[in-house]
Amino acid sequence: MGAASPDIGLYIHIPFCARKCRYCDFVSWPGMEDAWEPYINAVIKELEQKSEMARQRRVVSIFLGGGTPSLLPGSAIQRIMEAARKHYSLLPDTETTIEANPGTLDHDRLRAYREAGINRLSIGLQAWQNHLLEFMGRIHKASEFDEAVFMAQDHGFSNINADIIFGIPYQTMEDWLETISRVLSCQIPHVSCYSLTVEEGTRFGKLKQEGIWPEPDEDLEREMYRAAIDVFGEAGFEQYEISNMAKPHYRCRHNMNYWLRGEYLGFGVAAHSFFNQARFANTPDLRLYMESVERGNAALSEYYYISNEEALSESMILGLRLTEGIDLDELSSVYRTDVRKKYGKKLADLAERELVELNGSVVRLTKRGMDFANQVFVEFI
Ligand code: SF4
Repeated sequence: MGAASPDIGLYIHIPFCARKCRYCDFVSWPGMEDAWEPYINAVIKELEQKSEMARQRRVVSIFLGGGTPSLLPGSAIQRIMEAARKHYSLLPDTETTIEANPGTLDHDRLRAYREAGINRLSIGLQAWQNHLLEFMGRIHKASEFDEAVFMAQDHGFSNINADIIFGIPYQTMEDWLETISRVLSCQIPHVSCYSLTVEEGTRFGKLKQEGIWPEPDEDLEREMYRAAIDVFGEAGFEQYEISNMAKPHYRCRHNMNYWLRGEYLGFGVAAHSFFNQARFANTPDLRLYMESVERGNAALSEYYYISNEEALSESMILGLRLTEGIDLDELSSVYRTDVRKKYGKKLADLAERELVELNGSVVRLTKRGMDFANQVFVEFI
């Protein structure tokens, strides 16, 4: 079942960072300044190469993620955006986000972003306490977040997100509430709250493997999550997805497109795409990516077609992430199958366990379901 909408998102991956954070398993590398220029050239070439696919489509969102895109000079971002504008149909109000690290933003970059048509910033604060930032291997100090936000606001950016993390070892509830209150004092309209996960292959993963990972308290971690929803809620933020909260009209369109199973094209090393009922990904090998694009070839390492059955399963899992839930009747007409009947027993069991609630034809996670979302999702795989 394909998306009927002509709207798509573009994701552009910038895989360079000043230093590798200890919890990070994203495809990103510290240093490698020599690769920046050829990489940007490759991304620009890939934007041109894939443009034929999207000839009839409108680009409603662009997300420059990483890595640390704000590490690159503003002129590099301008070149990427020029290529996007040249080869794709952007709207006057295409939501265009760049991820930034507080330690890397300055006036020149912000000016260049404005000129390039970037209208949203996503800034990784993570925590307000310098000892926690240091523990996680972040390059910046907490105060640089405030400075970055105020500087961005002076340059006319009003649509700003902060990423913050809870469930960090040694993080207390007071620390967490202080982080939340600092974010609120910056008057920004969007926040993403993530629970720290320990991934294999990271520095933290190694500590876990060696049995010396200081496991944080699980109950405290859940209390922090609920506290964030409550405190941001009182301040006028609406929780619209498990980890995301926004003031009215400031939901992230790019991510909403993912959760609603809209189509998107990814550019750059390891970038994923979902287009014409297929999911595909570029190689995570930087050299191979650049060589393939240079030769005019697709840099793909994975490609799979999504069956109708898989598409429905994805719609359930992604849609349940949204607090407004899923309209099962709507889904039934999209997939031409009786979804209520198909999942009736599973949904009844989940409702019995107080993980989901059914209201007419709409199913959504309960508060308890938000805490144990993976137990719900696994039912629809
Ligand atoms: S800045 Fe972001 S992408 Fe880079 S290492 Fe840290 S968490 Fe990973």
